[in-house]
Amino acid sequence: MKELRGKVVADKIKEDLKVRIQSLVDKGINPTIAIVRVGENDSDISYERAVVKVSGTIGLKVKNVLLKEETTTEELAKVMTDLNSDACVHGILMFRPLPRHIDQDAICNLIDPAKDVDAMNPVNLEKIFEGDRTGLEPATPRAAVEMILGHGYELKGKDVVVINRSMVVGKPLAMMLLNENATVTICHSKTADLKAHTKRADYVITALGRPAMLDKSYFSENSVVIDVGVGTTSDGKLSGDVNYDEVKDYVAAITPVPGGVGSITTTILLSQVVKACEQQTIK
Ligand code: NAP
Repeated sequence: MKELRGKVVADKIKEDLKVRIQSLVDKGINPTIAIVRVGENDSDISYERAVVKVSGTIGLKVKNVLLKEETTTEELAKVMTDLNSDACVHGILMFRPLPRHIDQDAICNLIDPAKDVDAMNPVNLEKIFEGDRTGLEPATPRAAVEMILGHGYELKGKDVVVINRSMVVGKPLAMMLLNENATVTICHSKTADLKAHTKRADYVITALGRPAMLDKSYFSENSVVIDVGVGTTSDGKLSGDVNYDEVKDYVAAITPVPGGVGSITTTILLSQVVKACEQQTIK
C-alpha cells in the first residue's frame, strides 16, 4: 500500500508560490487576499486561521473583513464592490453558506471574476467547463487533481470515477479531469450499482460524505483512492468516506483522512491568489 499524504504535495506547491510571490514583491506588488467572514461560524473561523497561517509562511498578505451576522445583502454587496475596486486586493475569499437572510447568489454574481479565488462566480465555473485555464478554480476539486498529479500519477487515458455531483466538488472536478484527458464517470446517490463502477476504475475520487462507508468490496488491488470526504464515525473518529483501516493494505494507493486532500486545499486556494495577482499585474 502506498499512502498518499497531502503535505508532500502542499510543500512543493508552497515552494513554487514563494518564488512567484518574491518576484511580485520585487516589482513592488504585494499579493493580498481579502477574507470576508459574516458571523462567527466555528468552521469558518478555523479555515480563516489556516489561511492566515499558511499565507504568513509564503509571504502573502491578508486583509480580514469581519462582518456581523445581521449584515444585510445591500451592506455585503457594498463591501464586495469596494473590494472589487481596491487595487491592493488581488483575491477575495468569502465563507459560505452565508446567513439565510442574505441573497448568496446575488453576492456570488457580484464578485469580480478576476479576484474570485474560490470560483463563486459562475463565470469561473463556466471557464472550467470550457477548458479555459485562465479562470480561477475552486480549491477542493483542484486539490483532488493535484493529489493525483503531485504524487506522479498520470490522468491521461485513465478511467476515473467521481462519487459526488455537487457544484462545489463533483461537477467542476469531473470537468478538470476531462481537461486532463481522463475518462470520467460521475456517480451519485441514485447510481444503480456503485461498486460495479468503482471496482473497475483506475482512480476513485469520493466525496459522498458518509464516514467509512466504502469498504474493501468497492475496490480492486489496482485502485488509487482519493478520499475527499470528511466526517465522524459513530465511535467519534474523524474519517473519510473510505474504511481506511480495512482498505489501506488492499488497494494500490490511498489518501488518509486527516492528512490527505484536506491538508492541501488551503495551499491550493493561495495558489489561486498568486495566479490572480499575476494576471492582474503582469501585462
Ligand atoms: P453534498 O452536496 O451532500 O454531496 C454529496 C454527494 O454524494 C451527492 O452528489 C450525493 O448524491 C452523493 N452521495 C451521497 N450518498 C451517496 C451514496 N450512498 N452513494 C453514492 N453517492 C452518494 O456534499 P458536499 O458539500 O459536496 O461534500 C461532500 C463531502 O466532501 C463531505 O464529506 C464534505 O465534508 C467533504 N468536503 C471536503 C472538503 C475538503 O477540503 N476535504 C471540502 C468540501 C467538502 P446526490 O447528488 O444524488 O444527492
